[in-house]
Amino acid sequence: MEGGMSRRGFLGRVAAALGAWLLEPVRRALGRERERLRPEGEPECEVAVVGGGFAGVAAAALLAGEDYDVVLLEKEAVAGGRARAGVRDGWQYARGVSYIGRPEGTLRRLFQLAKLEPVRVPPPVGALFAGGQLLRGRAAVEYLLGGEPGARRRRLERLDERLGQLARAVERDPWQPGRRALRHDRTSLAELLGRLEAPAPLVRYLDGQMRGIFGASLAELSALYAAPEAYFELPEADEPPGDPGAAERPEHPDDALYTLPETLGELPRRLGARLGERARLGAEVRELRWDAEARRFGVHWVESGGEQRRLRARAVVLAVPAPVALALARELLVPEVAGALARVRYAPYVTVNLFSPRPLMTAAWDLSCLDTAFTDLYDATRVQARARGVPEAERPGILGVYVPGAHAADRSWVEMEEGRLLARLFADLERVLGRQVRHEVEGWDVARFGLAFPVFYPGYHAEVLGPLAAPAARAGAPLYLAGDYACYPTVEGAVASAERAAEALDEAW
Ligand SMILES: Cc1cc2nc3c(=O)[nH]c(=O)nc-3n(C[C@H](O)[C@H](O)[C@H](O)COP(=O)(O)OP(=O)(O)OC[C@H]3O[C@@H](n4cnc5c(N)ncnc54)[C@H](O)[C@@H]3O)c2cc1C
Repeated sequence: MEGGMSRRGFLGRVAAALGAWLLEPVRRALGRERERLRPEGEPECEVAVVGGGFAGVAAAALLAGEDYDVVLLEKEAVAGGRARAGVRDGWQYARGVSYIGRPEGTLRRLFQLAKLEPVRVPPPVGALFAGGQLLRGRAAVEYLLGGEPGARRRRLERLDERLGQLARAVERDPWQPGRRALRHDRTSLAELLGRLEAPAPLVRYLDGQMRGIFGASLAELSALYAAPEAYFELPEADEPPGDPGAAERPEHPDDALYTLPETLGELPRRLGARLGERARLGAEVRELRWDAEARRFGVHWVESGGEQRRLRARAVVLAVPAPVALALARELLVPEVAGALARVRYAPYVTVNLFSPRPLMTAAWDLSCLDTAFTDLYDATRVQARARGVPEAERPGILGVYVPGAHAADRSWVEMEEGRLLARLFADLERVLGRQVRHEVEGWDVARFGLAFPVFYPGYHAEVLGPLAAPAARAGAPLYLAGDYACYPTVEGAVASAERAAEALDEAW
């Protein structure tokens, strides 16, 4: 892993290159002939953004920053989507999104706009539970790569080189990564690792990591689009000896993990709040129509209290998961785009947060686990306690337990009855932590995601991303799609997709 790219942060740079013009102090809108719409009968706005996850709030913030008259419509009572957090006795915890790479470009500017400062997760950050023991540093590398040091180094170099090439191609431009890189879109990551003769324990480890990060197994992921994460998960050949408690190798800032003390869900929540009354929360959009004569969309939604509402908009950004976008806009979309949306498949996922008077685990912030129902355990109060100045001995425990399926179509966890789910998790948890923790646990929060991750399967570029580059709607209706499925299945991907949609809207205005 070389410096210069960051874990889960590579798209920040794409975003910076794409739209340095957005959020600039000099508003291009000033030179544009504008027609500020007044409510007459049905209220009107210039742009309606449907969906208040990262993509929706980013699109709304970017367009509002360009002086567009924007209304954001979000179904839930709080903005954030899959980044929405939970709270227990004043302590926040992630139910979905837990970390990002070093924020850059537009994502960085969104943090500034929200007056939030992302923090680097302090050590000890990561460790591995495998073969019945907790492994760090060189011990983990030896477990994953086996063999003598020279052979290990050569194997790693081969993997580093090929995965690094692909990662950089996606980093440059996820939509047009170049012809040579695109050949690997049709290959699964499992096939590529096989060709590169990756050792079996490393393959098993990467399978767990990919299920943890994307909800899908190695065989189900495009080698091209899984490469950036797989590349950063590769161990270092020259790790220092890693007895538990030994200092970690200092990370390059680009390799570090970043989060917010109040969880990353605070960013979309604040960006939504900045819109004031322009953000309509608890507003589920049910219907979208295009009046070609008036060149206006009719947007119909239902408020949480059951009231029906309507709005006219000159342009619409749909920042909802692909099946919702398809259901709302099927009649308006060109067939290629409708087909691409129909081909997006989602993996389900469950997260469980366990509450205890004291932390159940302090060995790492993120403990990756092999051969357990969960792939990762997160210490959810460590960063927050530091930010608040709460001494280590006094902080409560919230343990995030991340449970993907064995493969992307495995719905067994998301459908499992709660008692059985907890019993299965406790059995594995006690094996990992080496003690009977169920008696320390005073409560829990189970979050079930039916549409957790769009699966970037082999051929995703040809099947989905390519067709989505075309204008979305028939008859030139100004309809734009945003969301992680349209770029990359992370926070950065959602933001980059929003920026692209905002840029296209602005160009066509
Ligand atoms: C368990 C889990 C952990 C994750 N961890 C990470 C991580 O650590 N780092 C990372 O970078 N990424 C992570 N991700 C991925 C990340 O959450 C997504 O890539 C990103 O949040 C997607 O944002 P989005 O705006 O595209 O979609 P969403 O967040 O799904 O937003 C869509 C919004 O649309 C709203 N909506 C739906 N239908 C309607 C309607 N009819 N009317 C109005 N509103 C509607 C929804 O309520 C939602 O708020 C994780 C995902 C999951 C599930």
